[in-house]
Amino acid sequence: MVRKVELKSRCSRCGGHLESVLDQLEGVCSQLSCRGPHLVEKRRQAEREKREAWAATIEELKKAFPELLTDQGRDEVASEQQAHVSLVPGTDSPLVPLPPDRHEQFLAHLDVICREAVRLCDDPKKVNSLMTEYGHRGSATKDSPILPVLNGCSTCRGYCCRNGGDHAFLDASFVAWQLLCDPCSTAESVRNAYIHRLPDVSVEGSCVFHGSQGCVLSRAERNNVCNNFHCFELQDAIEQHSEGESRAWIAVARSDTGALRVGKMDSSGNQTRRETSGP
Ligand code: SF4
Ligand code: SF4
Ligand SMILES: [Zn+2]
Repeated sequence: MVRKVELKSRCSRCGGHLESVLDQLEGVCSQLSCRGPHLVEKRRQAEREKREAWAATIEELKKAFPELLTDQGRDEVASEQQAHVSLVPGTDSPLVPLPPDRHEQFLAHLDVICREAVRLCDDPKKVNSLMTEYGHRGSATKDSPILPVLNGCSTCRGYCCRNGGDHAFLDASFVAWQLLCDPCSTAESVRNAYIHRLPDVSVEGSCVFHGSQGCVLSRAERNNVCNNFHCFELQDAIEQHSEGESRAWIAVARSDTGALRVGKMDSSGNQTRRETSGP
């Protein structure tokens, strides 16, 4: 369907004449006092539409998976008070062997960062800044993510890991940090360890370490961005989380074409996950 584009000749806020096609498309002039509120409203509208789409998805899922939303014997309203429902992106790309050119790209990337890491370790100033940058990592990498993150990310299956591409967010600073932490390690041993961790098959078009069950690297082997990143959708769920709560978490993973799967995790971390029958 071709959407008809309407060009406006007057600014919807100040009524001024619109010259440029961009302004005419937006229906607003480029003065900050007009453009600013217009963009805020546009963003709010997009948010509203997105939330409505999510709400419709949840309604569909309530019908398709009633037992996931209601505990036996309870009615739906009661059970909704028992569970947090969050909406996450999702991926259902197939698992494939890493194409040779991507494998090569990854090796080339590793070579570059390992060489650079050795240089960083020989520079006292850089070593100091690495200490500041990575100093807090120790305990943070051992902590297990909180329930809404565990449930959300495992239901989503790593949509954001597509950004890991052929570099997996590994960089010279992080390799240098590993070399400094373990005096027995060498650039060669770090390099070989990462090569050894490459899975036989990975999610098509995603990070080289994105395996069938998610990232194949341990948290200690991943760079900070991989351990700390939470997508916009997940942030809502994180805000609702409080330690020691007994409510369950429900995550609905959705692609552009519809709901993919739903996961429910109880407060002890037991998860039930189910695929939808497709859009
Ligand atoms: S952070 Fe968001 S996009 Fe990334 S795996 Fe978790 S739910 Fe998916
Ligand atoms: S290294 Fe792991 S967490 Fe990071 S992008 Fe790749 S698969 Fe995702
Ligand atoms: Zn105006």
